[in-house]
Formats: sequence, structure tokens, C-alpha cells
Amino acid sequence: MLKTLRLSEIAAEVGGLLIGSDALIAGVSTDSRDDLEDKLFVALVGERFDGHDFSEQVIALGASAVLVSSSVNVTPRIEVSDTGAAYATIARMQRRFYKHPVVAITGSNGKTSVKDWLANVLAQSTKVLKTQSNLNNQIGVPKTLLQLQSDDRFAVIEAGTSFPGEIERLGTSIEADVVVLTNASGSHLLGFGSIQGIAVEKGKLIETSKPNATVVLNADDPSFDYWQSLLGPRSLLSFSFNNDCATLFAKQVNESVDGSTTTLVYNQNTYQLQLDRPGRHHVANAMAVALAMLALGFEVMDVLSKLKHPEQVPGRMELLTGKNEAVIINDCYNASPKSVEAAMDVLALYKTHSKWMVLGALGELGDLEQSIHEGLGVYAAKAGVDHLVTIGSVAGFAVNGFENKKRSEQLSHRCETKHEALALLQALNHEHVILVKGSRSAKMEDIVNALKN
Ligand code: ATP
Ligand code: MG
Repeated sequence: MLKTLRLSEIAAEVGGLLIGSDALIAGVSTDSRDDLEDKLFVALVGERFDGHDFSEQVIALGASAVLVSSSVNVTPRIEVSDTGAAYATIARMQRRFYKHPVVAITGSNGKTSVKDWLANVLAQSTKVLKTQSNLNNQIGVPKTLLQLQSDDRFAVIEAGTSFPGEIERLGTSIEADVVVLTNASGSHLLGFGSIQGIAVEKGKLIETSKPNATVVLNADDPSFDYWQSLLGPRSLLSFSFNNDCATLFAKQVNESVDGSTTTLVYNQNTYQLQLDRPGRHHVANAMAVALAMLALGFEVMDVLSKLKHPEQVPGRMELLTGKNEAVIINDCYNASPKSVEAAMDVLALYKTHSKWMVLGALGELGDLEQSIHEGLGVYAAKAGVDHLVTIGSVAGFAVNGFENKKRSEQLSHRCETKHEALALLQALNHEHVILVKGSRSAKMEDIVNALKN
């Protein structure tokens, strides 16, 4: 923790009642398995655990006090109405003691990719705090902020959302100096009703950032104008593949399976960006990372020279070799409609291979479930997928769209089970490339694990 705090200070800030003696605390924890010595234990209520059940135990383990929302027989304690909100407030108190730039990243796709890429490039020359793996929610964001140290030169924080209001709460704790909004598309449609609902939610990261913040936006996103309307006094840096008025304009992109070369225009000067992994979405992410670095005061040549290698995050467009030398594109960590399209665009680069797409269901799409899957089938046909393999009835809707648009030599395989799909896939060899994709809930890694060498 950046600065030790008194229980009374915390109680005042979170609007709680301190019962028992005041004390200085050295840290905050929500996990009874942590080292709790001199820490405040915040009792969060989750689906499986209720931190209140551990109140007595954590005091016995050395915690200075507990912060609770229902009565427990332990002192010292701070009583509040909502322990999650109080946790976010304590994180904000710490964040306010931090004097270096905080970058916050949200969007429907690419948050972790951009977060890791940016943080790892910054960490080549200095100490950086970043969100660990995907800890981007109401627990992960405060937890990350509470780890800030005064010698961290930058903090790079991922903010995710699964219900309206979450980004506002996270953003209020983060108070970003630089905001990166990658895009808004139909992931988690169920909770937000529409893309507009998602855009409004993501926009809260702009509205909660510092008034002098710099905001990095995707000028090609349909929500760009809306987000721009939220800027107020904040500065804008934008990136685009289509609009030469954007701060960073990708004028020309040459793609191959080995990577891409992009001609970028910035301040009327032209630069080459070479990436050694395939996919236009990596170019988009590179532009977002580059603009965040420019906002942090780096020079453009320095920035571009550091961006050759898009970060390989496991399960995201990971290239593997199958048992019979088939090329496997393991993109099964998660799926939203846009990330499925991005993955198919990469598959399409394999001109000399027979292209297989194995699709598990995309979750949380609400009423749009059928039409979105059908749309992905249409996209697959147009992207030149030779064989579309779907698993289960929901993913099977993609076959409808595919069958409507495909050429005669393109084939669909509607499978009920992964077992059935594997029977088709296991014989494929070096002449084939297999993209495996689906939502987290579809557990498509079962397919990858069965196929890989
Ligand atoms: P989550 O909501 O699960 O935290 P995320 O926003 O952090 O997801 P990543 O984990 O970086 O996103 O990537 C998820 C998927 O989106 C991967 O399949 C990845 O290849 C793809 N992806 C990454 N960047 C983009 C982008 N700019 N546009 C579309 N798809 C992308
Ligand atoms: Mg993520």
C-alpha cells in the first residue's frame, strides 16, 4: 500500500461506523489466505463465499480490523452498508496518493491484449504496475490499485464490465490520466440491451477520468461520435483504418500469415509499422498502444520501434501445431462477434491451406443469439472458410447463414458434441488450418487439447 491509513480515516471516507479502537493499517485484504498481519480485512460477499464468515479467523491471524456490512462479534470493525463499494473507495484513497500516470483500458475486445502489450513495453525501461491476467472487475481493480507502490512509474489497469454501473464504479476508483477505449461490440449484450447500452457503459471510463486526461478512441467504431461528445475538457487521440483525419491513420496494411506491414500517418509524416503476428486487430491494438504511449510523453519513432511483437496472451490467436502437423489457431479463451470476425480474417490469410473453423456457442447474446450466430455463418462463407464445424444447437445457427451464402465446395458440419467434431478433425494434416473459437462457457480448449501435439 502506498500510504498507511487510520481506521478512523477510512471509516470517515467510506461513510462507515468504527467500533473499537482506532489503529494504523498496513494494507487491505479480502482473502483470508493472505498474510493478514496489520491489515484491514474487507468482508466481500460473493456467489460462493461470504467474507463475514471469516471475521473471527482473520483477527486471530493478525488482521488489525474487519470491514463488514452485517453484524459480527469482532472488534475493531468498520460497519458499512456495502463492503464492495467501501473496498472501491479505499482503493481510490490510495490511488489519490499516487503521483504518476494511470492508464485505464476498456472496450469489448482487446482489453487484456492492449493492457499487456502497453505495460510490457513500458516495463522494458521502468517499473510498471499492471492488472494481473484478467482481474478487471470490482474485486480485481481495487486489488490492483491497492498494490500501487511509489516507485511504480506507470500503472496500466484493465476495466471490464458485466452489468450497468460497473465501469462507473471502477473508473471512479481509477481516475485515469489516460483512457483507452478499444471498441464496443456485442459482448455481454444480455446485460446491456444494445450496442448503445454498451457504448454508454464504456463511456463512463471517460467521464470518470481526470478532467485533463487524454482519451484514446477508435475512430472507426460506430460509437466514436458518442464517446467524443463525452470528452469535455479532455484531449482526444484517435486511430483509424478509414479516416485520414484521425491522429494515427493506417493508410495501407499488407497482411500475411507471418504478420503485417502498415503504413501509418501521424502529424503528416509517414511511418512503417511491422508486426510479426497476423491479424488486422493487432494493427488496431498497436495503434491504441502507440497513442497511449504518445499520451505518456514518448516519441513516435521510439514507440513504433518497440511495437514489433504483439503480446502473445494464451488462448488468444495462439498458433500451435497439431498431431498431424495441422496448423491450429487457438482462439478459444473467449468470443464476442467482433473477435470471431477478427479471427476469421486471420484464417483467411492462409491462402494455400484448407481452412477449417470450429465454432462453439457465443454466450450472453440475449434475443440476438440466433441472428448473431447466423451472421457469423455468413461472414465465414464470405471469408472463404472451407469447412465450418459447429458444436451444439446454438453455434449450429451459424450453419444456416453459412449455407445461404457459401459456394458449392464449402461444407458445413453441424455437430452435437465435441466428440463428433473431433472425429472429423483428428485426421487433418499440414495442408489444413483449424481455427478454434467459442465463448469461455463453451470450453473449446477441449478441442485444442485433443488436437495439439
Ligand atoms: P475479456 O472481456 O474477456 O477481458 P478482453 O477485452 O480483455 O476480453 P482479449 O483477452 O485481449 O480481450 O482478447 C479476447 C479476444 O478478442 C481474443 O480472441 C483476441 O484475439 C480478440 N481481439 C483482441 N483484440 C481485438 C480487437 N482489437 N478487435 C477484435 N478482436 C480482438
Ligand atoms: Mg480481458
